[in-house]
Amino acid sequence: MNIKDIVSKFKLSDLTVVDSSVQELDGNFYVIVKKNHQKFLLVVGSKENANDFIFEEEITVGNYTAGIGYLSDVNYEAMLDRFEWMHAKTRHDVKYSFGLGDRLGLASLAHLNLFKDKDVMPVLAQQSIRELMLTGRTYNEVLESAAWAVFEKGYTKGFGADGDHLKNPYEVEYAVSAGFPMITLDASEHIKNGINSLSDTELKNLYDQTISSRLQKQLEEAYLNQTFSFGKTNITFTLRTLMESVLIYMDAIYFAQEIYHDFVIPYELDFEVSIDETAVPTTPENHYFIANELKKRDIEVVTMAPRFCGEFQKAIDYIGDVDVFEKEYQVHQDIASEFGYKLSIHSGSDKFSVFPIIGKISKSGWHVKTAGTNWLEALRVVAKNDPKLMQEIYEYSLSVLDKAKQYYVIDSTKENAPTLESIGSVDGLLENDATRQILHVTFGLILNEKFEGEYVFKDKIYTILNDHFDDYESMLNSHIGRHLDGLGVA
Ligand code: ZN
Repeated sequence: MNIKDIVSKFKLSDLTVVDSSVQELDGNFYVIVKKNHQKFLLVVGSKENANDFIFEEEITVGNYTAGIGYLSDVNYEAMLDRFEWMHAKTRHDVKYSFGLGDRLGLASLAHLNLFKDKDVMPVLAQQSIRELMLTGRTYNEVLESAAWAVFEKGYTKGFGADGDHLKNPYEVEYAVSAGFPMITLDASEHIKNGINSLSDTELKNLYDQTISSRLQKQLEEAYLNQTFSFGKTNITFTLRTLMESVLIYMDAIYFAQEIYHDFVIPYELDFEVSIDETAVPTTPENHYFIANELKKRDIEVVTMAPRFCGEFQKAIDYIGDVDVFEKEYQVHQDIASEFGYKLSIHSGSDKFSVFPIIGKISKSGWHVKTAGTNWLEALRVVAKNDPKLMQEIYEYSLSVLDKAKQYYVIDSTKENAPTLESIGSVDGLLENDATRQILHVTFGLILNEKFEGEYVFKDKIYTILNDHFDDYESMLNSHIGRHLDGLGVA
């Protein structure tokens, strides 16, 4: 049977078949078809086979029934029952994985073009609660759009879905119930800041006030004045570094333990612990202490995201001494290897100067997360095809910058931000560090701005991306491709 012949029998003859999507299973066919920019699912086969789908239009051709329906929740569930590879997977047996927080729900197709030939698992669905709020999407939508892209591309190698930066049991529950197999637990609300600046006396007083003498005794027997050696790394705890580690991280460890027992074990989740959103870098002693305390409680993590030295600011290259980073990164890797997990690098967008170090040192595997950079590539398509709209977006982003800075920390202010005149062209807005960050942090406000009930920018941005999808694909391909090249992915 020829799918195109069946399609042509529908009244909507301007449907086109997406060739990469054609699947045959038990004599039935499943295909994505397009009409203008709208996509539909076409199912062709026996009448009984189609019982669990909802179609807008159905025809009979010989012995076959053919139905066309939306990429709806119901049809998604029906497809999940048929195609195992449309389910998001854990990273348990995966060496390299790469997080792609696609905020617009369009980038996964381009990402799959890039990842189909790579030995890296794409974590296509990756959103924090903050990002869901700012884009007005739900976890179900995020996961479904990734899974439909997987189907459309016929990508059967397995993709990931990460409920990113989840901060409490309710958020974890939300991601898990939507079908996310991976969670990133953000323990930052249980991590105490300001400990490192205490004097020895203040530190000791706080330690005595908050840690029972029984626990103090246990911890001191386990760590104090002992040296732990592995790889080229030696870690020795003084009373000061032990007290610091305990005071900063002990509550976070209890929190991880609670989540592990309530969710990770029962749902067999892929577990990442992130301690990157803290005021000071994670020292080797801190990292070892956390790893060891987690192990003591039989908590198995797939990846851990420490806060590295230097600065991993959004959407720009690494800021800091690359040689110091290399030395410290090696120590973090030694600890991760000793405890059997991989390092996770957050805010990994555009960190070109440290990718080769990560690739070289993390031979046993890594997880790198990107998000905002995909949005900036979308804006690059806007700048290319509608410079005037891009100018309006930038002017708007400056007007709401103070509001955006409630959610994200960047140095730029309305006062010191570059003007379009000083940058020279709208394309330049996506090359300059300051303007990249401004456009990055204001994404939610840009998308949600309404005037008289209509979106001011959102619909126009989507129209441009759909009209110039080839541009979007090739820009994402080369930009994310540069990340993978830097990491040494063949
Ligand atoms: Zn993070």
